[in-house]
Amino acid sequence: MSSTSEHGREKRDAAFKAAQISVLLNAALMTMQIAIGWLAYSEGLLADGVHTLADLAADGMVLAVLRLSATAAHRSINDQYDRYETIGSLLISFLLIATGMETLWSSLVHATNVTNMTNVAGASSVHASALVVAVFVITAKEGLFRYIMSVAQRTRSTILVASAWHARSDAISALIAAAGILGSMAGVAISDRLAAAVIGVMIARMGFNLGWKTFKDSFDRTASETAGQ
Ligand SMILES: [Zn+2]
Repeated sequence: MSSTSEHGREKRDAAFKAAQISVLLNAALMTMQIAIGWLAYSEGLLADGVHTLADLAADGMVLAVLRLSATAAHRSINDQYDRYETIGSLLISFLLIATGMETLWSSLVHATNVTNMTNVAGASSVHASALVVAVFVITAKEGLFRYIMSVAQRTRSTILVASAWHARSDAISALIAAAGILGSMAGVAISDRLAAAVIGVMIARMGFNLGWKTFKDSFDRTASETAGQ
C-alpha cells in the first residue's frame, strides 16, 4: 500500500470521527435549544435551534461525503475525494442559504405582528432559562471549533476547515441569541426577535460564502490541473 493512500485513509478516519462528534453534540444542543426556546418564549433561541437542525443536516452530508469517498478510494483517491468534497460543500451552502432566508422571514413576520398588537401579550419577556442554554451553546460551539480546527490542520482536510469555521460562527450566532434574550429580560421585548432576524442573515451569509469559496477552489484546481498538463 502506498503512502498516499495511507495518508488518505488517516485523513478520512479523523474527518469521520470529527463529523460523528459534531453530530452528537449538535443533536444534544438542538434538542435543548428548541425545547427551552419554546418553553421560555425565546424566538432567538428557537431560531438558533433551527440553525442547529440545519447543522445536523450539514453534518449528515459531511458523513455521507466521507463514506462515498471511502468507497471510491480504491480508484483514483485524491481526485474522487476532492470531487465529493466539492459536491458536499455546495449542497451544504444551498441548505444554509435556504435556512437563513426562512429564519429571517419568519422573525420579521413575527416582529411586525407584535408591533401591530401594540405590545399586549406578545411583549411577555423571555425566561432566564433561555439565557442559560444560549451561554451553554456558545461554550460548546467554541469548543467544537477548536477541536475540529486542530483535526483539520493535522489532516489538511478542506471540508473540516469549512466545518470548523462554521462551528465558530455558530458560537457567534448563539452569542447574538444571548444578547437578544438579555435585552428581552431587560424589558425590550423586540430584541429577541431582532436577534432571530440577525441570526437568519448570518446563516444565509455563511451559506453564500461557503458556496462561493467552494466554487472558486474547484475552479482554481481545474485551472491549475489544466496548466500542469
Ligand atoms: Zn451552523
